Amino acid sequence: MANKPDYPFDRLEYGETIEVVPGIHWIRMPLPFALNHINLWLIADGDGWTIIDTGYNTDETRQVWEKIFDDLLDDKPVKRIIVTHFHPDHVSLAGWLLEKWDAPVWMTYSEWMQAQLNRYGGPTADIDARMEFYIEHGMEQSGIDGYRETRPDFSKIILPLPTGFRRMIDGEKFPIGDHNWRVITGAGHSPEHAALWCKDLNVLISGDQVLPRISTNVSLQCNEPDGNPLRLYLDSLEKFRDLPKDAFILPSHDRPFYGLHDRIDALGEHHADRLDAAVEACAEPKTSRELIPFLFKRELDRHQLGFAIGEAMAHANYLVADGRLSKAHDEDGLIRYSQVQ
Ligand SMILES: [Zn+2]
Repeated sequence: MANKPDYPFDRLEYGETIEVVPGIHWIRMPLPFALNHINLWLIADGDGWTIIDTGYNTDETRQVWEKIFDDLLDDKPVKRIIVTHFHPDHVSLAGWLLEKWDAPVWMTYSEWMQAQLNRYGGPTADIDARMEFYIEHGMEQSGIDGYRETRPDFSKIILPLPTGFRRMIDGEKFPIGDHNWRVITGAGHSPEHAALWCKDLNVLISGDQVLPRISTNVSLQCNEPDGNPLRLYLDSLEKFRDLPKDAFILPSHDRPFYGLHDRIDALGEHHADRLDAAVEACAEPKTSRELIPFLFKRELDRHQLGFAIGEAMAHANYLVADGRLSKAHDEDGLIRYSQVQ
């Protein structure tokens, strides 16, 4: 991808914080994955603080939070916990923070519901259906075994969530401290991801929807086999084009950056290239599993294979909806995609 983000800050150490905009503190928390960190934000909110995203439920994350509460809060309470989306690195400590601060959790409706479902075992309970879905799309047994072994059990990782929440709606504006913020929802990575835009500060908290270097994971899910998450994702990206070119972007991974519009262009080109590669590969019918080497040039470990097949299926379904590929359930039980002549 050709864009070169402009990073005004050096990388932080885990648990280190820095005020990147007056009143907005950047926190870098560890993650126990190949993607080894997540950025969280602490915003001065009048007589208290608002937290954006909670981190992954590990002892280390909780210890870092405790240290931040001791060192940074100036004896003011956390008044609100905003969660951009349901993924465990963002939501899993929401219940813990709420219990600690008695502060409401703000989320969009779909993200809230999905978090509740995961918390009560959804993806763990439907793991057999999920595996069958991957097998239909050509995943080999070692990939299936790898997925089963490496998939975290969200019902254990996400701590109990409160039974009520404050719903955020697309376009809604609300103040945090002295400034108004607007909710910009997006889909494709998760069902109703909330990004937050502050015109006064010229700052976008982009969550996982826009990341400076890695491309956001967009995967087809087994509960929506004919879905088109890549279309949803690309349409969602376009919503950020209305923001100024010099907006300062605070993403959930990597570092705060400038260069939003170049990044949107680069992501569009990246997916267009992958879509073309998938069409070319389907001159002979291919399963989504067989498409992976055409879409990902690097070696993938077993954990990454699960993400990769999700992405391959998302690209293939996009092309079916676009009329460039057709999808057939073959007699051997596999789903294959072919060029439309
Ligand atoms: Zn995410």
